[in-house]
Amino acid sequence: MSGRLQHKSALITGAGSGIGLESSILFAQEGSNVLLVDVNLAAAEKTAAIIAQKYPNVKAVAVKADVGKEDEVKSAVDAAVNAFGRLDVIFNNAGIMHPADDNALNTEEKIWDLTMQINVKGVWWGSKYAILAMRNNPTDEAKGLHTGGSIINTASFVASMGAATPQLAYTASKGAVLSMSRELAMVHAREGIRVNTISPGPLKTPLLMDFLNTPEKRDRRLVHLPMGRFGEAVEVAKAALFLATDESSYMTGGDLKVDGGLTSSYVTPL
Ligand code: NAD
Repeated sequence: MSGRLQHKSALITGAGSGIGLESSILFAQEGSNVLLVDVNLAAAEKTAAIIAQKYPNVKAVAVKADVGKEDEVKSAVDAAVNAFGRLDVIFNNAGIMHPADDNALNTEEKIWDLTMQINVKGVWWGSKYAILAMRNNPTDEAKGLHTGGSIINTASFVASMGAATPQLAYTASKGAVLSMSRELAMVHAREGIRVNTISPGPLKTPLLMDFLNTPEKRDRRLVHLPMGRFGEAVEVAKAALFLATDESSYMTGGDLKVDGGLTSSYVTPL
């Protein structure tokens, strides 16, 4: 299938790596213009170059923004509307897992605050400015375009499970993403704005693999994974694509778990 996002426009945060990179490429493959937001501009520009080469029929614009700063999030949404004339999808995906994030006793307040600033406030502001933009989306029945849109927020399996290898601020931040998104979904359900989360399991992306830098650390997790492997970023991007398209038109307030069965597991196969 192709053209699933034809004529549409999407903003993806954290577009320079991992889930954001793979989602940007998939959205573009399906015909969407994409505004690629990352605090690392060079990384976002690399994603834009890949898309320009593979899918020259869509517009891919790289923008530097820190999602932990409200004015930068607002500017990024404005940039999408200015470049494409509309915003149908926002994927609030950027997030951090700080190496100094630990248990209740060892986590410093500044690490807690930084994690909340990016992982929670970033999603709040992305949603806020997307809602304002989506209300103004022009309708064009012939092209399948309408007011409203789809907001997709990246949570995590740790929003639903406790880990004895703690990262307390990160875990709390992802719980907040889950509950905030549910409430956003209720408030905006009658104006054609859908809000859903994705809860990925542990993935082979820099965010986790930089942290799990020894075989012991990786094995400590792998034993709990029913499929016996970490996930790939593109496996999450495919779920994001589904939530971005009208194929998920009756889904709002939902959480799509893309976790290899992790959150359903008790005893895993040997
Ligand atoms: P990644 O580290 O591969 O990519 C994250 C991208 O976000 C990077 O390009 C980075 O530069 C960018 N970024 C970081 N802080 C930013 C900021 N303040 N403003 C704008 N951009 C910023 O990570 P990933 O694994 O693709 O993670 C994406 C999302 O998925 C995150 O929210 C993460 O918490 C979540 N997640 C990841 C895993 C996993 O195992 N990797 C599991 C569950 C949830």
